[in-house]
Amino acid sequence: MITLIGLGPMGQAMVRVLLENGHGVTVWNRTAARADGVMAAGAVRAETPADAVAASELVLLSLTDYAAMYDILGRAGETLAGKVIVNLSSDTPEKTREAADWVKARGGQFLAGGVMVPAPMVGKEDAYVFYSGPTDVFDKYRDILALIGRPDFLGEDVRLAQLFYQAQLDIFLNSLSVFLHASALIRSAGVPVEKFLPYAKDLFATMGFYLDAAAEQVEKGEHPGDEADVTMMGATADHIVQASRDAGIDVVLPEAIKSHYDRAIAAGHGRSSWTSLFEVIKADRK
Ligand code: NDP
Repeated sequence: MITLIGLGPMGQAMVRVLLENGHGVTVWNRTAARADGVMAAGAVRAETPADAVAASELVLLSLTDYAAMYDILGRAGETLAGKVIVNLSSDTPEKTREAADWVKARGGQFLAGGVMVPAPMVGKEDAYVFYSGPTDVFDKYRDILALIGRPDFLGEDVRLAQLFYQAQLDIFLNSLSVFLHASALIRSAGVPVEKFLPYAKDLFATMGFYLDAAAEQVEKGEHPGDEADVTMMGATADHIVQASRDAGIDVVLPEAIKSHYDRAIAAGHGRSSWTSLFEVIKADRK
């Protein structure tokens, strides 16, 4: 028996995959009616969070954030002792660490997970999930967790699953906004976005080309400016700000990017590679 708490789209998809693979699943959800569909598919509804936790050694959580975990498991009383809590909800790495300590203090073990696909892809070939926490706990449940998606174990530092998750979403959300900004620039001249689309897709597809060398330079802290240096790229960043202003569209994103170049130049990186922006970005600005 496996317990799953939290029946949003993601939790429901996970329950279905576990049932399809022959596991018994006990569920609990704050809004009880959300369990109806998975109960029809074979899941058992627990009356309380304590009953849900008591039903299985392995307890999966799929909640909006980590605050919801305390709201629910805070009512589970002594039942957490000896249980394995796998929290597949999204939140910050620091909140993940606090949650691991909270569960441990109640006699349970804790794994953090970050699901990297939308609900309809759960259990499908391209699905993968980041995990971090105790290696022996992960190894014990690896085969069950693999039903949700390929499990990528990142190590014992429990923060890492959410760190990787947030870093991936950092790229994803920024990319989506940048695409929309570029589309606004195109549309400002009355040109349909569809006409620009092949070029945007081509660029997204080739972005990986730049990353191998960039990662190496960032790691070494060496930024030879033999190709695209900060001064040249900074001028381009300024042109994008000016073009956006002329077009009468939002300039917040291009100004933020221009500020990286301005600060890199001010820090003496003008003739270094664009990767030297990392030295500005990594600095604590508090
Ligand atoms: P939803 O927000 O739809 O569902 C979250 C669940 O959390 C619901 O069961 C909800 O209960 C419960 N919940 C929220 N707050 C509380 C609370 N204070 N007390 C009790 N229960 C609470 O999220 P999803 O199912 O879409 O996602 C779950 C997690 O997976 C999130 O962390 C999300 O970031 C992550 N994720 C989602 C993806 C997606 O495509 N959906 C993709 C990748 C990750 P109730 O039904 O009563 O509201």
